Amino acid sequence: MRIGIAGFTHESNSFSVIPTTLNDFQIWEDQAIIDHFTLTFHEIAGFIAGAEEFGYELCPLVAANATPAGPLTAETYETLVGKLLAALIKNAPALDGLLLALHGAMVAEGFPHADAETVHRVREVVGPDFPLVVTHDYHGNVSEELVADVDALVIYKTNPHIDQRERGLQAASILVRTIRGEVKPVGAIAKPEVLFNIAYHNTSRLPMQPLMQEAIDLEKKPGILACSIAAGYQYADVPAMGPSILVVADGDPELAQREADRLGQMMWDIRDQLIPHLPDPATAVQRAITSEHRPVALFDLGDNIGGGSSGDGTVLLKELIDQQADGWVVTIYDPEAVNACAQAGIGSTVSLLVGGKTDDMHGPTLSITGRVRTLHDGTFEETERRHGGGRYFNQGLTAVLEVGGTTLSRRGLLILNSRRTSPNSIHQITCVGIQSQQQRILVAKGAVAPRAAYEPICAEVIEVDTPGATAINRSPAEYHQARKTLYEWRSMNE
Ligand SMILES: [Zn+2]
Repeated sequence: MRIGIAGFTHESNSFSVIPTTLNDFQIWEDQAIIDHFTLTFHEIAGFIAGAEEFGYELCPLVAANATPAGPLTAETYETLVGKLLAALIKNAPALDGLLLALHGAMVAEGFPHADAETVHRVREVVGPDFPLVVTHDYHGNVSEELVADVDALVIYKTNPHIDQRERGLQAASILVRTIRGEVKPVGAIAKPEVLFNIAYHNTSRLPMQPLMQEAIDLEKKPGILACSIAAGYQYADVPAMGPSILVVADGDPELAQREADRLGQMMWDIRDQLIPHLPDPATAVQRAITSEHRPVALFDLGDNIGGGSSGDGTVLLKELIDQQADGWVVTIYDPEAVNACAQAGIGSTVSLLVGGKTDDMHGPTLSITGRVRTLHDGTFEETERRHGGGRYFNQGLTAVLEVGGTTLSRRGLLILNSRRTSPNSIHQITCVGIQSQQQRILVAKGAVAPRAAYEPICAEVIEVDTPGATAINRSPAEYHQARKTLYEWRSMNE
């Protein structure tokens, strides 16, 4: 048995001013896919592990991924989907099936549901009877069209995403059993009319935890091959924006639809628990300063890099300085400021204009004076299971600036990096010589993803309602394609 494996993933934020272009993508082809992913916790690592577990031969095609930002330009989408299709045209006649990792919230110029378009084009190449199993991120905005074109869809069950490898293996298992004729997967989707706000996406807490447990329990029942809940991605302004329940049954479409509708009803029943209430920056910083615990993590939800924001937001940094907090660590994406630090050299005192340069959503550019403490090439490795399943990281040339404070432990540490990097690994901080547990306040620009890295070392996590491209309470008036009937918005008008 010979199985093709491929991936084409991006989470596209309609409110970002940064278009996603070919330069933003990392691309792996052929053997490079095996070399890069085998030791990760990514779903493609699961596809690879399936070869040994289920006894198939791997045919690695192409994998591409970029850090979340604005929608893909038309040229970027066409080039990358073209690479995937070319590899398939060449290899499909010798393949028994395909495992394809897609995000589910990719938006491309001209294609609001770019993942559905990709699957559609793949289907045109391989034909209607070719076994095709697709995986999605928990933040996918799943459309009915995509479900109709795949044999089965499998979605991560955790946020932070720490089960990606297992989901890849699950997809491989369904594909192999389909090829052997042991199962006949049929999928159904339910889309409850709620906006499942990202503030509630944590799968180990209320209100999502019991829903996800129901999906896990359902998957153990006879006749069910997979049951997934996608919480959705509220920053893609597309018709399918919002949560989805996906059930894949063995040859029984009524069973699949009945169970999808049942879980959809469970989600609808908790709709009043989905309206977000989080502290504003001033309140959150004050709470962090007066906390008896250390370190306290402040999560910057409005500048959530893994959700496609700029990464150069200054709102929490300004608040920490204004409230004279000490012992803080803040990371800001600002290649210009990094270069100024590098030119001045370690030990120099510099005055810089920092952050707030990408757009006008993430706070003002700040004037900061400090001492250059460290310069680092920005590469680090994560061997633990963390959100996104990645192992090899590069935040680009990085400088650490000591700001204020009369003693070393009271100084603020401003990490300036040259590549937007979601805080999925604590080594982003420790690799530049910072002892994260000795600090008082750690700011992480994310919503739920950083928990896997920060919870093990932080005494407390405070989620903050900050402005930005990933603000949690955007007005429905800012949306053009999303369904205005979603409950959080509907309740605003009542
Ligand atoms: Zn996600």
